[in-house]
Amino acid sequence: MKIRVLGAHNLETLHTRHTCFLVDDSLAIDAGSLMTGLTDPEKNSLKAILLTHRHFDHVRDIPSLGLHTMDNGATVDLYGLSDTLDALTTHLLDGLLYPNFTLRPTPERPKYRLHPIAPERPFNLLGLQILPLPVPHGAPAVGYLVRKGSATAAFTGDTGGGLLPFLSATPPPQYLFVEVTFSNDGIDRARASQHLTPSLLADELLSAQQKGLPLPQIVAVHRDPRHEKAITHQLAELSKTLNIPITPASANHQFPL
Ligand SMILES: [Zn+2]
Ligand SMILES: [Zn+2]
Repeated sequence: MKIRVLGAHNLETLHTRHTCFLVDDSLAIDAGSLMTGLTDPEKNSLKAILLTHRHFDHVRDIPSLGLHTMDNGATVDLYGLSDTLDALTTHLLDGLLYPNFTLRPTPERPKYRLHPIAPERPFNLLGLQILPLPVPHGAPAVGYLVRKGSATAAFTGDTGGGLLPFLSATPPPQYLFVEVTFSNDGIDRARASQHLTPSLLADELLSAQQKGLPLPQIVAVHRDPRHEKAITHQLAELSKTLNIPITPASANHQFPL
């Protein structure tokens, strides 16, 4: 399995992109950086997108990608919770803000086909086994365990915690792509909006370690660029404390498994 980080932050700036991943060149996890993170041939090779939840930074590029690749004759399969897909069709692909690409270019061969998923119901997609796991966040949200042979990667999406089901999977994931949105100073805000800080991540990892679970390599994404320095410093301290690699990923970072 080949994983590429397309974006690793919660805001797009001159130097950062929204959190988004590409798996095996054909599957995207979330859609916040598909326009700026992929070349034109890569955009046209995309077969499916797994959405974690409805928030704008995770779905933003679906309309633009639809227009950009409309003439290639290929349908892209969109997977997400009903709440996520409903928000998409009523707010972004509503035919008012942007064309309804679930009906265009033709209703028979639309740009996007929607597939509702349910937490804890696994499915197979593009040679991968996918298990959506529920996570606590400000909107109904899931993370995904993605397996291919002996390779397993966990993607939490936006979450205020609830990492144990990912860490206790059998076999355990080699990588955990986890959000760390705020620095430790922002813990109140993180708790209120159900996001993580390095200290909240530490609590989750320590409780898994106390249960005897092996800790995977940690890749921190969805970092707030305004607090980048503090977050990376605090993650480096945590990496030393737990004696595990914690990588603050950046766009185009590749993780072969
Ligand atoms: Zn969110
Ligand atoms: Zn987000």
